[in-house]
Amino acid sequence: MAITIQPTCCIFEYLFIRKSVCRMYMLWCKNSNFRCLLSALCLIACATSACQTPESKETRVFSQSIAHSDSFKLAKTMTEKISKTPEEWKAILPPDVYRITREKGTEFPFVNKYWNNKKPGIYKCACCGQALFSSDTKFDSGTGWPSFYAPIRPDCITIEKDYSYGMVREEVLCSRCDAHLGHVFDDAPQTPTGLRYCMNSASLVFEPKSND
Ligand SMILES: [Zn+2]
Repeated sequence: MAITIQPTCCIFEYLFIRKSVCRMYMLWCKNSNFRCLLSALCLIACATSACQTPESKETRVFSQSIAHSDSFKLAKTMTEKISKTPEEWKAILPPDVYRITREKGTEFPFVNKYWNNKKPGIYKCACCGQALFSSDTKFDSGTGWPSFYAPIRPDCITIEKDYSYGMVREEVLCSRCDAHLGHVFDDAPQTPTGLRYCMNSASLVFEPKSND
């Protein structure tokens, strides 16, 4: 049965195609608008196929080069200062991070992200990503805020006098972007330095140690 139906279908298809081509040819000859439309469609199809292939390759290469240059730039400028207007910081930071880091706010004890975090890893600046503290120097101060006895590098923080609320305290800031991190006190004799860097969790982003 299949052998007898197949040639029949082919004949019908052939006749149908021939009829369609003839009809299009007649339209081509009679109608100048149709001729213009067909030419325009051919032109668009050619232009699209000509442009698409090389552009997608170039875009890929361009993206790769940007990715490489960005990571290189980031590594190179990790210690360079970052300066943004309050509006620029506000546009990129969550409201609580903005309030604490850029407006010298304080979060509540015992209900913040990292006060009881005991996982090994690095604590980075929530604004600029600079590494600030290691879990190796974190200790339980009983205050309800993440506490460290030393920064990861002496030059990753700066200390300024803070005279707010009728007190004199040592304010700790990120040396790269001047984010307010917290305060440092000399009331931790149980630690190797005797210091307690009392930080706001919102000023930090914890990066767990990888198992590689
Ligand atoms: Zn920073």
